[in-house]
Amino acid sequence: MTAALVVPAPAPVTVPVAGRADRFPVHRIYCVGRNYAAHAREMGKDPDKEPPFFFLKPADAVVTDGRDVHYPPGTANYHHEVELVVAIGRAGHDIAPEAALAHVWGYAVGLDMTRRDLQLAARDLGRPWDFGKGFDESAPIGPIHPVSDIGHLAIGAITLEVNGAMRQMADLAEMIWNVPDTIAYLSRYYRLVPGDLIFTGTPAGVAAVIPGDAMRAMVTGLPALEVKVLPPLS
Ligand code: MN
Repeated sequence: MTAALVVPAPAPVTVPVAGRADRFPVHRIYCVGRNYAAHAREMGKDPDKEPPFFFLKPADAVVTDGRDVHYPPGTANYHHEVELVVAIGRAGHDIAPEAALAHVWGYAVGLDMTRRDLQLAARDLGRPWDFGKGFDESAPIGPIHPVSDIGHLAIGAITLEVNGAMRQMADLAEMIWNVPDTIAYLSRYYRLVPGDLIFTGTPAGVAAVIPGDAMRAMVTGLPALEVKVLPPLS
């Protein structure tokens, strides 16, 4: 006898694959905190003293296929964070740094949208970051580009413009924990599986956006991700 679902099943969450009709299914979204020294400093922290740390967003926080984001509830300080996103294609745990890139299926440009006021209040009280980081529509992401097409991304510009004005500009090579080290560290604590996404942290220059603003996020080697901020959902 087949069991019936007592409420409708949630829709699978998928991200488009560049240049193909195929889609990448999302399992989890891991995010690295403070992975660029200048951003750690602008958050009031010393970048040299801390090992990497992570937080998660729900899979269904992704926003894809050219959709825009609504200004979220509960905040008066809604921030952009441009990030390189790693898409995991091979399972593994306790992965050695030298073996880590073999677990990468592809790369994308992402935005770790943040309710900064809620995140900082939680941080300063020693509380979880979920309300500041893991809300609806908090993970816009562009199409995933397969490693088989573009190779690996380790150097090159990462930028974010708002309404045509540069807000964030750095180089991927400035990451404190590079992609192999990040995968190796994370996989000591979680079993990574195909479908996991890793947001690899943002450079300095994070700032607020408001309804009407247009964000343009770029990583060298990938097409721009353009996302507008819409008025709040009523
Ligand atoms: Mn971030």
